[in-house]
Amino acid sequence: MSTNFDSYLAVAKKLDSDDPLKKFRKLFYFPKINGKTSFYFTGNSLGLQPIATKKFINEELSDWANLGVEGHLHGKRPWLFYHKFSKNALAKLVGAKPTEVVAMNQLTVNLHLMLISFYKPSAQRFKIITEAGAFSSDQYAFESQLKLHNINPKEALIELKPRAGENNLHTEDIEKAISENKENLALVIFGAVQYYTGQFFNIKKITVAAHKAGALAGFDLAHAIGNVPMQLHKDQVDFAVWCSYKYLNAGPGGVAGAFVHENHFKNRNLKRLAGWWGHAEKERFQMKEQFVPMQGVDGWQLSNFPVLSGAALLASLEIFKMAEIKKLREKSLLLTGFLEFLLLEIDPDQENFKILTPNDPQQRGCQLSIFTKKNGRQIFKKITHAGVIADWREPGVIRVAPVPLYNSFEEVFRFAEIVKRELSK
Ligand SMILES: *Cc1c(COP(=O)(O)O)cnc(C)c1O
Repeated sequence: MSTNFDSYLAVAKKLDSDDPLKKFRKLFYFPKINGKTSFYFTGNSLGLQPIATKKFINEELSDWANLGVEGHLHGKRPWLFYHKFSKNALAKLVGAKPTEVVAMNQLTVNLHLMLISFYKPSAQRFKIITEAGAFSSDQYAFESQLKLHNINPKEALIELKPRAGENNLHTEDIEKAISENKENLALVIFGAVQYYTGQFFNIKKITVAAHKAGALAGFDLAHAIGNVPMQLHKDQVDFAVWCSYKYLNAGPGGVAGAFVHENHFKNRNLKRLAGWWGHAEKERFQMKEQFVPMQGVDGWQLSNFPVLSGAALLASLEIFKMAEIKKLREKSLLLTGFLEFLLLEIDPDQENFKILTPNDPQQRGCQLSIFTKKNGRQIFKKITHAGVIADWREPGVIRVAPVPLYNSFEEVFRFAEIVKRELSK
């Protein structure tokens, strides 16, 4: 074990004082444990509350109180057009055109809506390739969609596992599997950043491989949006969905989002579920019989917009606009790299734990998934007791997400210090 571990505190402090994004931390509330500010590393599960969120929601409550139904047209942010106010910021985060993104519903609902349109099985082409161990809700969505089409998930769902003894997938293995199934493949869909391992998949290469095989490519961005920059438009991704309560800090159950590439906007054969909010805007209130979808991804909207939840999303997106995802990523690479470095200093031979997340920074976001080899639950309890809010996943993984928007290098050092102390006891 390194003898000069404590000297890294000075390094952390220097990195903090040089950090061009350090001011953003002050824009958030931090939960307290026993009266002390916690070390919050669960922005991958529920992002912190921006201080401005209350103001944004209160403005809508005031408009509702003062204007009633007139708020739809005459509110500060007229409710009728609320889905438009987040477009520019969301488009920047995922690398899309504003017409290709929309805030609506919840993640799993949006996944179903997208699968209805973009999973179009035929007798010949019906298989779906995804990563093994995908988030439960995504697995349920795939299986239930297959059953809607009377297709047996066991025959159609191909779940790619890492090579023996490894924790992450090689891009070339994904490409190979896609190519090998090209006769029968309908869809490739991955969690862009895997929720459990933290692996950031190569969106571009997976999409190219899918298209080459005659299939479509979709991504679940739950752990990617607000975490890593993306270029969905340029990469020709067909569709994507996300939630906004993780790195986007839009609050519990916050309104989610979806992306559809403009390549699909003119396709009249796409099936979709319809509702009045997706109907051509100019005629929406004429209550006509025939559904005419709005241009762009907006045509996938079903219901009117959840304004209170949307206000919280806007409060957070204002911060992302100021911070910029590219700069956040630069800090994130340093911050997570620092965490990895300290953890390897503590346990160089990986006797106590093993980091499951790829060590290539290009293949991960901010999260590190630490597999504990023994007494994992106990260690987790102890670090929680010491003021750390992290996340435990069976069978023994502690997920730690230092978020560049509000976590500091000193916090990362303190976390490592606590782990070191608990391991040496
Ligand atoms: C967080 C998360 C979900 C949650 O789904 P909701 O519909 O928002 O409840 C689904 N899939 C993935 C990959 C997630 O990370």
